Amino acid sequence: MIPVKAFAAQSPSTPLAPFQFERRDLREHDVLIDILFSGVCHSDLHQARDEWGGSMYPMVPGHEIVGKVIKVGSHVKKFNIGETAGVGVMVDSCRECKPCQSLMEQYCTEGMTGTYNNYERDKVTIAQGGYSTQIVCDERWVYHVADSLDPAGVAPLLCAGITTYSPLKYANVKPGDKVAVAGLGGLGHMGVKFAVAMGAEVTMLSTSPAKEADARKLGAHHFVLSNDAAAMAKLDSQFDVVLDAVSGNHDYQIYLKLLALGGKLLVVGLPKDEPKLSPFDLVKNRRCIIGSMIGGTAETQEMLDFCAEKNIVADVEVIPMQYINEAYERMLKNDVKYRFVIDMSSLK
Ligand code: NAP
Ligand code: ZN
Ligand code: ZN
Repeated sequence: MIPVKAFAAQSPSTPLAPFQFERRDLREHDVLIDILFSGVCHSDLHQARDEWGGSMYPMVPGHEIVGKVIKVGSHVKKFNIGETAGVGVMVDSCRECKPCQSLMEQYCTEGMTGTYNNYERDKVTIAQGGYSTQIVCDERWVYHVADSLDPAGVAPLLCAGITTYSPLKYANVKPGDKVAVAGLGGLGHMGVKFAVAMGAEVTMLSTSPAKEADARKLGAHHFVLSNDAAAMAKLDSQFDVVLDAVSGNHDYQIYLKLLALGGKLLVVGLPKDEPKLSPFDLVKNRRCIIGSMIGGTAETQEMLDFCAEKNIVADVEVIPMQYINEAYERMLKNDVKYRFVIDMSSLK
């Protein structure tokens, strides 16, 4: 077994604190990664505080992982020792169902195995995430990372990146499309970057007036306060796509109403309250609501390659592991610029 240092939540109400545990010895297809950076996703906070129910403790969150391969199993083909590699939100799946065979393992009919907060396939070991010094993972769920990109900025691509890239691709966003992105946090800022890179005219919908200048720096062409009813009314039926990346409970109607004929509301934010929707607003313009969960292994590698080609990384605030509880509090105040990323050397 491989001893690692980590930070874990022991209950929904206790702050994250130092924790040690052991990773499994390498199987034939496993790689061992020495973690350099680990991004902080709002899903980490939702789960550490059991906002979705069913959380398992002790919990080492973290599913935006970048590091160096330091050991490989005897049958590993994809990686060599010394390579930079990433791990995202999943580490396994049934591998046999239709979604798995189509490399969309996030929709595995048995349920994907998340990087943390669930059992591994053995149904005994609690999977533990990236707020730790090392991780062992089957090579299928490990990705190549270009050394031309800053590894701290790459880490958030493994969740915030793929979660916004996948639905924008699915909605076939193309030059000239009008896209609005709601919520300027980790996901939202990647959504803006990708929509701009795909050639869309992008409007940022935010509740934070102070974020306007940053939204424009990220490439947004317009900025509108989503809590300004008069400004939102002017956008009625204007957009091909609205990407909802909001973490807190909110009104989905205000975004639905922005869609033009055949427009798509792409829902990726996961607040705990269930949405209320008017069927009248849905039938108008033959609007469509599409939910989307991260992305599969093939698409995640495609997204990382796209980022390498276009030189896209997340805008990050690098923090030591010991700052994590303050980072969570700031995230709750919408005070992110635009992803916290933990420098794991602070734990070694
Ligand atoms: P984040 O960095 O904390 O950003 C969320 C942003 O949403 C905030 O900065 C704020 O932006 C806005 N916001 C928060 N509460 C709001 C409210 N009540 N009403 C309106 N706007 C509000 O969060 P994140 O890491 O990007 O995650 C966003 C959501 O996506 C989370 O719920 C997370 O669990 C979920 N998620 C889903 C997937 C998936 O596969 N579908 C994957 C990863 C994460 P402004 O200041 O601009 O208003
Ligand atoms: Zn995430
Ligand atoms: Zn499956």
